[in-house]
Amino acid sequence: MKNQTLYTLAELDKQHILHPSTSPAFNRNNGPTIVFERGEGLHIFDMDNNKYIDGVSMLWNVNVGHGNKELAQVSFDQMQKLAYSSMFYGYSNEPAVKLAEKITSMTPGDLDSVFYTSGGSESNDTAFKLARFYWERKGLANKKKIISLKRGYHGVTVAAQRATGIEVYRAFSGSGDPDIINAEPHLTSCELGDINHPSYQNSIRGTIEREGANHVAAVIIEPIQGAGGVHVPPEDYLQAVRKLCDEQNILLIADEVICGFGRTGRSFGVNHWDIVPDLMSVAKGITSGYAQLGAVVMRTPIMDAICEVPDMLAHGFTYSGHPTACAVGLKNLEIIERENLIDQADQMGKLLLKGFDYLSDKYHFFQNGRGRGLLTGFDLIKDPEQNITFTPEEAAAMSIVEECKKRGLLIRGFDFEPGMNIVAIAPPLISQQEDIETIISIVDESLSTYSKRLGL
Ligand code: PMP
Repeated sequence: MKNQTLYTLAELDKQHILHPSTSPAFNRNNGPTIVFERGEGLHIFDMDNNKYIDGVSMLWNVNVGHGNKELAQVSFDQMQKLAYSSMFYGYSNEPAVKLAEKITSMTPGDLDSVFYTSGGSESNDTAFKLARFYWERKGLANKKKIISLKRGYHGVTVAAQRATGIEVYRAFSGSGDPDIINAEPHLTSCELGDINHPSYQNSIRGTIEREGANHVAAVIIEPIQGAGGVHVPPEDYLQAVRKLCDEQNILLIADEVICGFGRTGRSFGVNHWDIVPDLMSVAKGITSGYAQLGAVVMRTPIMDAICEVPDMLAHGFTYSGHPTACAVGLKNLEIIERENLIDQADQMGKLLLKGFDYLSDKYHFFQNGRGRGLLTGFDLIKDPEQNITFTPEEAAAMSIVEECKKRGLLIRGFDFEPGMNIVAIAPPLISQQEDIETIISIVDESLSTYSKRLGL
């Protein structure tokens, strides 16, 4: 019966669904790769009752794990009381207000006001608009350009797509908005003023110089780049960019959509480097994926400048401040705090990195194990000494992902640049020592199988 249902669902899926970030042709021919049915803690089950460890928390968002009854209950209760009301025309609701207070008690510095969205892309589009609007209010209406980083991922709505520095996303069906420019990532010395560096022209500083600071509204950065392959910046990088933005009168937007609310073992990614951005985009971990919600958190001077405006703010989403989503968010943040999940992520992340050390001793092609908290990744390089990468046919990252899947572990691979083979591991923050050990041992077996297959 079960399999008959699954077969029917797969057929219907093929006919009726265009999947995000999936090959349309593959799905039309083969149907979905997995049809999930239920989740429990670290685990997610498909319709054949196969059990998987959710090794990337689905899309780095299911931070408290699957099947959390408290979140289900709070959603049920809020839906019965007031499932939805709008925030237009000055309307408000209790969960939205309480969540705003909670978020701003967690964010650093004077990041004290929020604008609600339904997800990360909307948050980034909103952050761009608020940054430009702020400069308009300051009499600097020419400050429109946004500088983002190559390998950054900021979403897929039209503006967020252009900010995304991964070519396959940036180019998709795009119109090429010239106001959003990609710069080279993580060039600390350039940002500090090393004009003789060979990449200076394409650094953030070089880009500002070329475009003119009087045309640049903001720089957007993920504290740790996620979907670009888990890239932790060099130690002084974020401070250098903060300083540069201050000097040049440019706003700094931190895209904390993945990093925010504990994933990196701190409340926010920027906490690792002790900087306060002017605007912060959040989503994902705010509800652990139990409801669709995002927000832009802004510093007091920005909020104050905007609040001088008597006219209507011509920006807002139907689901801005959705009461049920906000109630879920509030409970989720309460759980993270009560269960000490941010510290746990920090501890478990250190264990994962130790596991990576073990794997890099064992496999010469396992390189650059890295991460903060439970946002981690590593490279696969065929011959690191000679800098020889795996070929597309050898599909190193995707083979490891497949081997892990066969062994009941879902993780993610990235190979969107020639020679790139990156694997990301980012399990829920509730992971325990034995879970981390299981993950490492499955990755170990998968690397071993792959290595034997290629005769490495
Ligand atoms: N920013 C970052 C850093 C992200 O990782 C993502 C999603 N992976 C987004 C923005 C876009 O969020 P959404 O998919 O909710 O629009």
